[in-house]
Order: sequence, then structure tokens, then C-alpha cells
Amino acid sequence: NRQIKLASRPHGTPTSDNFELATSDTPTPNDKQMLLRTVYLSLDPYMRGRMSDAKSYTDPLQIGDVMTGGTVAQVVESNVDGFAEGDLVVSNSGWQDYSVSDGEGVLKLDKDMPHPSYGLGVLGMPGFTGYMGLTDIGKPQEGETLVVAAATGPVGATVGQVGKKLGVRAVGVAGGAEKCAYAVNELGFDACIDHHAEDFAEQLSNACPDGIDIYYENVGGKVFDAVLPLLNAHARIPVCGLVSQYNATDLPDGKDRLGMLMGQVLANRLTVKGFIIFEEYGDHYPEFLKTMGQWVESGDIKTKEHQADGLAQAPQAFFDMLEGKNFGKTVVKVADV
Ligand code: NDP
Repeated sequence: NRQIKLASRPHGTPTSDNFELATSDTPTPNDKQMLLRTVYLSLDPYMRGRMSDAKSYTDPLQIGDVMTGGTVAQVVESNVDGFAEGDLVVSNSGWQDYSVSDGEGVLKLDKDMPHPSYGLGVLGMPGFTGYMGLTDIGKPQEGETLVVAAATGPVGATVGQVGKKLGVRAVGVAGGAEKCAYAVNELGFDACIDHHAEDFAEQLSNACPDGIDIYYENVGGKVFDAVLPLLNAHARIPVCGLVSQYNATDLPDGKDRLGMLMGQVLANRLTVKGFIIFEEYGDHYPEFLKTMGQWVESGDIKTKEHQADGLAQAPQAFFDMLEGKNFGKTVVKVADV
């Protein structure tokens, strides 16, 4: 049983020294457990937070712990009611080949599902996040302007496409011309701006002639700086993630702009609301899955995956995802079904 463990805490950008590839005996399930074999491992930005011991919404990993992570797994043997050998499930098995589970929080996938790995992306935690944050906090109204960065990732692509269904003007922000072209031509964004462009703020302003009513916050940093002056009165900001800051070791240089930000919150009567998906919205998952399942099946909602091959590739794929070298939802193919 190969396992990737947290070897040390990163200071800033994580490196391969922070991980250790270990092997252990394959675990044996007790009479209330099942044995799961990992097929796909999801890599997500939140994992960077778990590697640190800074106070957060959940406990950090300890040194020597197996890296945490959502997985699609196959049941190898089962003593849990409702799960049988051969079933495919979404579980939280982490960065390892085998794990045992009592079935808590494990979701059975349809055996005939054409792309089981979608259970980690568009039909799983990130898709659910984009859908709930946009609809419940963003509250889109027809004709409004929505901006979202990391627009081709699993959260942003969901936000943009669901926003279009609800009648907004969707403006994406992504890293590079190829991602921006995909966002417009495949995902149906009205415009997409490359945040690497020198005149990024000006281009964003030009793409939002009526200002911004919803800024779905995925990244923070210079994207937020460019968005702030464009916000309309009563704009909503679902604060989902701040990936540009996850490797930061210090506050950014420059003037303290907190006063200016709070002035905007007041003058424009902004709604700024953070959320952690399963904490706030867990009960809504079945209804999301039904709706999104139909949209994905009909081709109404499109999705793209960035697959790494083999468990040993997980750390590098994780670094790449944090830097935007992924193109679509990052998953690691650990084994064949
Ligand atoms: P992605 O797969 O889209 O990967 C992250 C992307 O962020 C990169 O591909 C890159 O895209 C972009 N990025 C990285 N650095 C920067 C930067 N400095 N400036 C602008 N963009 C940057 O991630 P997800 O879709 O899985 O997650 C998106 C956000 O949602 C993250 O912040 C994540 O933490 C958050 N999240 C929050 C949840 C919650 O419950 N609150 C649950 C799930 C996710 P590009 O090259 O296009 O810039």
C-alpha cells in the first residue's frame, strides 16, 4: 500500500521535500468496515492549507499523516451494509492506494457512470461549491455582470456556466490565451481576460461596461484589486477561495488599503460572505447532484479534466495546480477500475 505522507510543513511554496512516499501493509477491514482501492485522487487548493498549522476552519494534518484527499475508489471487500465488492464510491481515502472505511460520508456512484472521476469535479465538491456559492450568495439576476477567476478550473467553470444559464453576463479571468479561448468558445463566457496581461485591469474594466454585480472570489490578489473599483452598488461577493495567497508568507507590500476596502463595503453596501461548502450547504448536495447530473449528461454543462498518471505524480500535479499549470479539474489516476 503506497502512501504519500506530509513529511514537513512548507514555508511558502511547497516542494517535494514536504512529502514522503511510504509503503505499508494493505489494511484489513474489521467486521464493520470495507476495504477501498483508490482509482482517482482529487487534488484541490484547500490541501495547501491542511499542510500548515495556521488556525483555520479545520484541524491541520500532523507530520507523518497521509495527505488528505477526496477519491473515487472501488470496494474490494465489504462488511458495510449497502456496499458490495466492485462498487465505485466517492470517499475520502487520501493520497494512498488502499484505505478502510465504515461507510460514513461515502457516496455510491452509479455503476454505469461514464466518467466516475467527474464525482471529484463538476459533480463533486468543486462543482457543488461553485453552484451553491453563486446561487445562494451571488444571487444572480438576469442581465447582471458576473466576474470569476480560475475560470477554467472546476469551481470557476461551474460558476460561469451556471451564471449563463441564469442570464448573467459572465466575464472570466484565467491564466493565458489558451484558457481564455476555451472559456469563451467552449464554456460560453461572454469574455475572458488573461490575468498575466500587463493591462489586465484596463481589459477587465472594458469587459464590464456596466460594472460588476457579482464577483465570485476564487483568487484574491491583483484580480480583486482590479475588481474593487468596478463593483456596483449592492454587489455580492461570495468569498470561496484566495488561491493567489495560499503560498504567501507575509502580507503584500504597499499601502494598507483596508480602510479603502471598508469604505467601499459601506458606500456600495456590498455583501461579502465566506463559506465552506459542506459546512454551510451539505444538505443540498442530493438536489445539486440531480440538477447538475442532468446538465452534464445533456452536454449543457461542459467540463475538462487535467489527469496526472500514477500516485507518485501527485505532489508535482499539486504544485502545478497551485501555479495554474493545470487546465481543468486536476485528478490523479491511481489505478484502473
Ligand atoms: P483550480 O483547479 O481552478 O486551480 C487553481 C487555479 O487558480 C489555477 O489553475 C490558476 O488558474 C488559479 N490561480 C493560481 N494562482 C493565481 C493567481 N496568483 N492569480 C490568479 N489566479 C491564480 O481550483 P478549484 O476550481 O478547485 O478552486 C478554485 C477556488 O475555490 C480555490 O481558491 C479553492 O480554494 C476554492 N474552493 C473553496 C471551497 C469552499 O468550500 N469555500 C471548496 C472548493 C474550492 P489560472 O491559470 O486560470 O489563473
